[in-house]
Amino acid sequence: MGKIKKEEIIEILSKYDKKDITIATLGSHTALHILNGAKQEGFRTAVVCEPGKEKPYERFGVADEFIFVDKYRDIVNEDIQKQLRDMNAIVVPHGSFVAYAGLDNVEDKFNVPMFGNRDVLRWEAERDKERKMITEAGIRMPYKYDDPEKIDKEVMVKFPGARGGQGYFICSSYEEFQEKIEEMKARNWIDDNDVKDAHIEEYVCGTNFCIHYFYSVLNDEVEVLGMDSRYETNIDGIVRIPAQDQIAANLSPSYVVSGNHPVVIRESLLPQVFDNGDRLVEKAKELVKPGMNGPFCLQCLCNDDRELVIFEMSARIDGGTNTFMNGSAYSYLKFGEPMSMGRRICREIKNAINDDKLEDIIT
Ligand code: AMP
Repeated sequence: MGKIKKEEIIEILSKYDKKDITIATLGSHTALHILNGAKQEGFRTAVVCEPGKEKPYERFGVADEFIFVDKYRDIVNEDIQKQLRDMNAIVVPHGSFVAYAGLDNVEDKFNVPMFGNRDVLRWEAERDKERKMITEAGIRMPYKYDDPEKIDKEVMVKFPGARGGQGYFICSSYEEFQEKIEEMKARNWIDDNDVKDAHIEEYVCGTNFCIHYFYSVLNDEVEVLGMDSRYETNIDGIVRIPAQDQIAANLSPSYVVSGNHPVVIRESLLPQVFDNGDRLVEKAKELVKPGMNGPFCLQCLCNDDRELVIFEMSARIDGGTNTFMNGSAYSYLKFGEPMSMGRRICREIKNAINDDKLEDIIT
């Protein structure tokens, strides 16, 4: 089976009643404000849920239709896809949708019109592609070590797979790297394959800003809609323990996101924020046409030189946008009305329908 072609999606879209579009997504991640934003923009909404997971969408009243699946991954099943197409659904992909459906399935099997650019999702999922896009855009990333023997200062060691920030560790020499690897193997947290695929990068000591951008294809403009910083277990718990007790407790840090804080950045850093967003959008247009097309996020650390160092990107709506369901300081400046990322996406869809340009923003 090959990748789904844009022409196939356009063909499906041509049969849709454009006056009766449903905005749909998987019931997780950022579904609350995607669906809420859709209603604000006048769309009908649908959420795909495992039984028992529908409660937030029911209690907050954001979903008009519920589609139940045994397992989230069943969203790619043909009968579910058909139900979605029958309701003229445009699906908004988010991090959990991609994780549960599986990237291969999203690329090869999911024959439902989606907002954005399907092909860009792989560029966030594969570390080498992500690094290529960001560094070729001229944006600073943490230095990457290709050999643990070359570790000469604090580094962060990351492992692949779906374990989030679980089991990441910090070390500053090859000896310490080996020691910590052995410890983790003894706990069965990692195996030899993980060690082979370990990603080692410069540890950036700085403050965390996850910057939420929206690239409007219709207006050819990069917008900054909000920012958050991460609240991570158990590192944010460990830092509340006095140093001598930390040593005694011998806890291993993990970096699993459990929540987000809204944040604003020092105003003099905003030119850098816009510059990074503009550069990434231009590079993405070159590497994976038509480029970013919608929401994306650059996760940064601001170091002592007030330089934004990007350690990760999301090439779709990022979970930190939940910090501004009713708008952020920045979305207020831009729109002067409550504007979540979900609503912004649906505004773009509405504008595209009105201008007969839906094909430009659908994949
Ligand atoms: P990631 O899984 O890459 O999103 O990283 C999880 C968390 O680890 C981030 O939210 C940061 O707190 C921290 N982190 C990631 N990369 C670095 C780095 N190069 N230097 C310092 N902290 C980092």
